[in-house]
Amino acid sequence: MAYNPIQFQHGMSLPEFLQSFGTEPKCCEAVMRARWPAGFVCPRCGSSAHCVLLSQGRPLFQCRACRRQTSLTAGTLFGSTKLPLSTWFLAIYFISQAKTGMSALELKRHIGVSYPTAWLLHHKIMTAMVAQERQHRLDGVVQVDDSYLGAFAYRFNRRFDLADLVCRLVVDVSRCRATPERAIRQA
Ligand SMILES: [Zn+2]
Repeated sequence: MAYNPIQFQHGMSLPEFLQSFGTEPKCCEAVMRARWPAGFVCPRCGSSAHCVLLSQGRPLFQCRACRRQTSLTAGTLFGSTKLPLSTWFLAIYFISQAKTGMSALELKRHIGVSYPTAWLLHHKIMTAMVAQERQHRLDGVVQVDDSYLGAFAYRFNRRFDLADLVCRLVVDVSRCRATPERAIRQA
C-alpha cells in the first residue's frame, strides 16, 4: 500500500498529553496562556496590574485599578464548572483523538464521571468544536480520509454529498437543546 504522509502525521500520544496537561496546575497554565497570552488584562478597564487570589484551588485575578475580580474560567468553555480542569482536558483529548467518534457513555468510562456529567462535557465540547470549525471554509484541493459519522453513515451507501452531510451535522448540533436527564430517559 502506498505510503500516505497524511495518515502518518505526528499526533499527541497519551503519555505526551499527560506530560503536558496531566495535572491541575498545568491545565490552569494552559488556559491562562490561551486566554491572556501576554499576561492578565482586566476585562473592565484593560489594566494589567493585578494580584492573584485563590478560589476553590483556582486563581482569581483582582485588578489593582478597578478591583474587579475575574476567574480563570469565566466566559470560557469551563465557566462555572466544579470539575477539575484536568478532567475537562482529558475529555477533550479523548473526544478529539477518537477517529470514529466517542459516545458520552464511553467517555464516562474513560474519565470516571457520572453519565449526566459525561453527557454534558461531551455536548459542550462537541458544540465548541463545531463553532470553531464554522470559522473555516474548505478551499482548493480537499482530501478526505475515511470517516464514520454515526447516524449519517447510511449516506455512504447512497449518493455521497459531503457538503450536505456537514451542513446537516452542524445544524443538528446547533439545534440540540436536550438535557442530560432527557438523554437518560431516551437511552
Ligand atoms: Zn480593572
